[in-house]
Amino acid sequence: MNANPKTVETAPQSFQLVIDGKLVAGAQSLDVINPATGKVFMTCARASQAQMEQAIAAAKAAFPAWANTRIAERRAALNKIADVFATRLDEFARLSTQESGKPLALAVREMKGALASLRAFAQLDIQDKVLKETDTTRIVQKHAPLGVIAAITAWNYPMTLLVNKMPPAVLAGNTIVVKPAPTTPLTTLLFGALCNEFLPPGVMNVIVDQNDLGGLLTQHPDIAKVAFTGSTATGKKVMAGAASGVKRVTLELGGNDPAIVLDDADVKTLAPKILAGALVNAGQVCLAIKRVFVHESQYDAMCDELAKLAKQVVVGDGLEQGTQMGPLQNKMQFEKAKEFLDDARKHGTVIAGGNPMQRDGYFIEPTVVRDIADDARLVRDEQFAPIVPVLKYTELSDAIRRANDTDYGLGATVWGTNLERASEVAMQLEAGTVWVNKHLDLPLDVPFGGAKQSGLGVEKGQEGLEEFTQARIINIGR
Ligand code: NAD
Repeated sequence: MNANPKTVETAPQSFQLVIDGKLVAGAQSLDVINPATGKVFMTCARASQAQMEQAIAAAKAAFPAWANTRIAERRAALNKIADVFATRLDEFARLSTQESGKPLALAVREMKGALASLRAFAQLDIQDKVLKETDTTRIVQKHAPLGVIAAITAWNYPMTLLVNKMPPAVLAGNTIVVKPAPTTPLTTLLFGALCNEFLPPGVMNVIVDQNDLGGLLTQHPDIAKVAFTGSTATGKKVMAGAASGVKRVTLELGGNDPAIVLDDADVKTLAPKILAGALVNAGQVCLAIKRVFVHESQYDAMCDELAKLAKQVVVGDGLEQGTQMGPLQNKMQFEKAKEFLDDARKHGTVIAGGNPMQRDGYFIEPTVVRDIADDARLVRDEQFAPIVPVLKYTELSDAIRRANDTDYGLGATVWGTNLERASEVAMQLEAGTVWVNKHLDLPLDVPFGGAKQSGLGVEKGQEGLEEFTQARIINIGR
């Protein structure tokens, strides 16, 4: 282990893979596009299948020794990583804005959150639990590490998603092969090179693909668990791929989160919060508000207010000061958003935005749509774009039924002044996390996961740490 962080500052700039403790050139290279310009701004290493095999073999070879270290040693390594990462947050944030398109302030928040998450995991412990203690028996539950973990992430919050996986995996004594999404590989490679300075060879490996290695990684016999964040469609493939080895999976998948606005809500106060919750990261957040249900008595007022505010949003390059919303992250998502706009025009009334912007890059106007049917694509599917459908309801029970009428179950929000009533509604929503009069509050010590087809298992907190372990019951006769 190298305790001198100085070497970290120069090594990773070439954006190489991390395999067996070394920074390695890719068998191929990958162009990375800045979504604010639509142009290539960086090139990085891309792994071949053989390099993926090397990464898995390195993680497998490193596992026995790493699993046998004391947790204090693993914790110390994570703390050293956090200390250096803390000095480089701005560098990571700028790079994140360039590769993801998100406004710099949001990227800074992502990096600060990633740092906090690293530090929070580094404080956790894995305790043995005595389940039974009698004159003749002592039964203890221990938590053994699993082996080699595959961590596969989406492009919307590469660092947030990575620090929900790598620190608990490594703290629990596992080794790991990380694979970011092909359109946002750079911050993950930079972080991998940083971590590599403080971890023994093979404990953390990072490979990059072009959507061609995820399936192979998932199915590889030497992978013990797949910690995955991405779409529900890919999550199903991961689950199927893991079946042959009865591998553990944690799946953090898509969402189509409803917001229910109760009839006692204050429209003026609430509209900015709802809009912010829908347009955060240009709508590319698994937990973004994706359907807004408003009581008929306030429907017109809420629609007008949301439209007014949407027209005021400053859209631009995330590196420009004052930008509130950036572009969509990639061309495929941009094309998908245009289809949602077409659908919205056909099946609803567009009252703000409604068009791609006439400029380079993948920009969509912040869009609000009213009077749209529940079976329109914009309402049924996850738009992952700054396009907000506003739906009218008369009976609250009907709003709850419609909110639950989806295969997704990630998050939901309820907004109203009568807390008791709002909380009762919250209890009826089928989601992993339901907020009342707030949104996206995700404390580091609170587990997070999806209901229904939004996921399996949890991340964060003690529960998120223990997902990277196998319970082992030791039953002693005496
Ligand atoms: P995606 O499913 O297309 O890709 C996610 C990752 O899976 C990428 O790294 C990709 O290369 C990899 N992959 C592709 N094919 C694979 C395969 N056959 N086997 C294994 N891995 C494979 O998702 P995306 O478009 O990158 O991300 C957007 C989606 O992620 C949205 O649905 C969003 O809601 C979801 N998401 C969920 C959470 C959560 O915590 N629940 C958080 C962020 C994003």
